[in-house]
Amino acid sequence: MCKWGDTTEVRLCKPKRFSGKIFVAVDSCIASIVQALNSAGIETTGSCCGHDKGRGSITLADGRELLITPCEPSPTPRTDE
Ligand SMILES: [Zn+2]
Repeated sequence: MCKWGDTTEVRLCKPKRFSGKIFVAVDSCIASIVQALNSAGIETTGSCCGHDKGRGSITLADGRELLITPCEPSPTPRTDE
């Protein structure tokens, strides 16, 4: 997670509907994911990494939302059974 204001410019696959911008500032720690989606032609409308205060999300133009959650550590096999 990055601090609020730590952003990276991402090139969208389509200009934003209202501003017409093609480059937008995205939270740096999820910028590569947002860029990958847009590079693949998946239109995103917003994103936030959560900034360590909650889950992050990436909203898509089709109305769906991708949630960004921390990866749970994989369970270690128990040896005492
Ligand atoms: Zn972040």
